[in-house]
Amino acid sequence: DYEVEEVDDSNFVTRPPVVTIMGHVDHGKTSLLDKIRSSKVAKGEAGGITQHISAYTIEQNNQKITFVDTPGHAAFSAMRARGADVTDIVIIVVAADDGVMPQTEEVISHAKASGCPIIVAVNKMDKETANMDMVKAQMAEKEMTPVDWGGDIEFIGVSAHTGQGIDDLLENILLQAEILELQADPDAKAKATVVESLLEKGRGPVATVIVQNGTLRVGDNIVCDTTYGRVKAITNDMGKPVKELGLSETGNVLGLNDVPVAGSFMVAQNSDKEAREIATTRAEHARAKELSKSTK
Ligand code: GDP
Repeated sequence: DYEVEEVDDSNFVTRPPVVTIMGHVDHGKTSLLDKIRSSKVAKGEAGGITQHISAYTIEQNNQKITFVDTPGHAAFSAMRARGADVTDIVIIVVAADDGVMPQTEEVISHAKASGCPIIVAVNKMDKETANMDMVKAQMAEKEMTPVDWGGDIEFIGVSAHTGQGIDDLLENILLQAEILELQADPDAKAKATVVESLLEKGRGPVATVIVQNGTLRVGDNIVCDTTYGRVKAITNDMGKPVKELGLSETGNVLGLNDVPVAGSFMVAQNSDKEAREIATTRAEHARAKELSKSTK
């Protein structure tokens, strides 16, 4: 039900990749996400990292990469179903001592279905029982053949504990991104995807977003599914107030009248009237639909 927009590519610039890490429980997805973040923030800012967050942007060789956490695979599917496939590259994490587990297989099929390039991060390489060849053999059986075995999937050995291999992984992400030629228009009407949302005491509805097109600014009139408002404040992934979020950047947006659904699009509008009208119409449609369902 989203209107088709005419695409003007004259203003396109390269945008950073958005990366999702998936894997079997306990294989180190959370540890890896946290280690990448803490090893890449500017010195002196590391103290600002207090907790695990759902999305963040780092820099590797002056190039940005945004990571987004998927709390559960169900949430990932829900986001896809809503057309908000924000991910450009999928990292499958497999523990080097454990190898392919049932959820790894699930994740492989999700990743394949997404059509995104896949990189395998073989984690826990610091362990004595780590066995890269075992993981490669098991993955090859699932049609995930490593490049060095004649396939097309890169396998990078990493450790979320020691940090080994992380630079390698990031370089590889940037290589994949280059091939993808990701582009967007920084001057277009802002469009972002909500990856998480909540009602915060004293702050109201907070939406964690990733910008897909344009630049999202404080003061923008926005619509997000059936919610609307004016961007009152934006904090970046370090919790610092910022005036805007650029292409593929992530942050928390305040100012919506209600908590938007994760997976929905946040779109800038020309006026507050327009924003309110679109949201109200959508809410009415949603109510009518519910009503007709319940009377059937
Ligand atoms: P998740 O369920 O995939 O998010 O896994 P976690 O990040 O919670 O990690 C599960 C367990 O594995 C924790 O006890 C971590 O400390 C441990 N772990 C994660 N990464 C590594 C690693 O690189 N090396 C070792 N030795 N242990 C790890």
